[in-house]
Amino acid sequence: MRKRNFDWDNRRCQTPLWCLTPLLLVCAAGAGCATPQYAVRPTPVPEESAAVLQIERAISALQAKDFARQGARPLGWDESLWGFEVQRIVERLSRVTERPSLRYRAYLYEDDDPNAAALADGRVYVSTGMLNYLASRGSRVDELAFVLAHELAHTAAQHLVKRYRRIQQQNLLLGLVAAGASAATGDAGGTAQQAGRLAVDAASLLNDVALSGYSQEQELEADQLGIRYVIQAGFDPKAALALLTDFSRFENPWPFLRTHPYVIQRRDNVQRYLIDTGVLAAPGSTSATPADRITQLREAQRLYPVGSVSWKNLQRQIEEWEGRR
Ligand SMILES: [Zn+2]
Repeated sequence: MRKRNFDWDNRRCQTPLWCLTPLLLVCAAGAGCATPQYAVRPTPVPEESAAVLQIERAISALQAKDFARQGARPLGWDESLWGFEVQRIVERLSRVTERPSLRYRAYLYEDDDPNAAALADGRVYVSTGMLNYLASRGSRVDELAFVLAHELAHTAAQHLVKRYRRIQQQNLLLGLVAAGASAATGDAGGTAQQAGRLAVDAASLLNDVALSGYSQEQELEADQLGIRYVIQAGFDPKAALALLTDFSRFENPWPFLRTHPYVIQRRDNVQRYLIDTGVLAAPGSTSATPADRITQLREAQRLYPVGSVSWKNLQRQIEEWEGRR
């Protein structure tokens, strides 16, 4: 069997340069290169100013063109493929994201690799390979729900806008340093030239962001947010663990992919988060006292707004444990 690229939404990373160009910029500034550690991520607070929406639309237009070239097409509301009603799942998940007003629209594109991707404007693409892969192992809808929830999380947390801003800042910084060096040597022509570079080439910047993958930190955050959406939308979050465990068979050893979290790391992080939120029992939890469990659940509960679906789920568990004391 051909070795598959398991790591959905890193489809562009099959060409190393596409991945490494923005990554080198990030590393040049000395940030974002370390492997992120496990942490519970805060709920994102979306920014929907006119400027941000414009950036999202511009990046999405570039990416959509790429998918259109591959014959991507929108999926109908009632369309069922390999037994999956993709648009309905997207709709169900979208209501519990931090950006429920975005128009989330599911698209299908032809590709044997199991993959999915989300655009910043709410479009979500899933490959025929992904649906085929999930169906071939008798997947439940909950696994696809996690894949799609992970994608929606990238959109809700505005990962591409954050990347755009980071690259923009780095470009400005590099331009300032170069302009400063020219000024120090009295090179007036050079100064003017370097100062001219301060005007960032917007088209090139958008293109860089459109072609870049996500950072390790963003992938781990999308997993965690995806788990929250899956829970809130009423799917089984444990399916995420089963899926990532199976994906680990497709681990891609190419060095450039090491800039993205290994799927095993993703799986371990998801497992730990499921334990933190009370979905999974902690190893050796039979010896944990009710007081320990209640403390853990209260910690997890602090992540959610009071009265939200997840908050209430956790409250129910806390009350159950309190009854055992
Ligand atoms: Zn992702």
